[in-house]
Amino acid sequence: MRVLILGGSSESSALARALAGRSSIDAVLSLAGRTAAPVSLPLLVRTGGFGGIPGLVNYLRASAIDVMVDATHPFAERMSGNAQAAAEQTGIPLIRLTRPAWQAQEGDRWTEVADMRAAAEALGEIPRRVFLTVGRLQLAAFARAPQHFYLVRTIDPVGAGHGLRAACFIEARGPFVTADEERLMREHGVEVLVTKNSGGTASAGKLEAARRLGLPVVLVRQPAGRQAAMSDIAEVIAALEAHHRLPALRGV
Ligand code: NAP
Repeated sequence: MRVLILGGSSESSALARALAGRSSIDAVLSLAGRTAAPVSLPLLVRTGGFGGIPGLVNYLRASAIDVMVDATHPFAERMSGNAQAAAEQTGIPLIRLTRPAWQAQEGDRWTEVADMRAAAEALGEIPRRVFLTVGRLQLAAFARAPQHFYLVRTIDPVGAGHGLRAACFIEARGPFVTADEERLMREHGVEVLVTKNSGGTASAGKLEAARRLGLPVVLVRQPAGRQAAMSDIAEVIAALEAHHRLPALRGV
């Protein structure tokens, strides 16, 4: 059975590791190519966009894919939409693997917003020291709020043209532990954290650190309207195995 995993999340890497070496499943992991040095994984990896819905449909047919697993990051809205449309056009079953969004706990001071623009506005007019962990492609909205100082953490270098006036850049790849996050926020005198509600454990330490420090958090909500999802890798593997036993099954 040929399985296409749409990746770019820690869940996709974990699924790829779990499927590698299974004789009944021939899996290929697809990455967008945004990260210069992605984590090395023990299976076939293809990189780069497919060319929209038609490109994905062609790829699925040409590669004789039996099942597609959308394990992209919760904010990769376009790829998920394309996967849904391509599944409908081809009849190839689509499984969505994702993690539940973070939920506020006692002591959290969260302002939830719909997008980056609203996140920048939520910082207000008074200059603040902001810890920004929204990815290097999302900085433009904050360039429009130059009164703030930004501590920006990304996986790859931000490069020129980010537009931020007062900023310090850190390159690091998670997982991050709470104690380190707390230390970093103290060292840089952070007053507010801005992040996406990505869910999962790998990057939850900053929220716990903010809670411990009593700091406010501006949290961008996950896009709405995604298809029903599985959050457990074992559940996905069971669905794939069920499909393997019943190859005529459609719509896992
Ligand atoms: P996006 O807006 O949903 O996708 C933009 C385009 O990138 C897609 O239309 C597709 O191009 C290509 N693409 C995206 N994911 C791909 C994949 N797994 N394999 C092949 N092509 C892919 O996605 P994004 O928000 O830019 O994120 C890009 C990648 O980074 C995703 O794979 C995602 O899992 C990962 N990521 C995203 C975030 C985030 O916050 N958005 C955070 C961490 C990781 P074509 O239309 O040409 O096929």
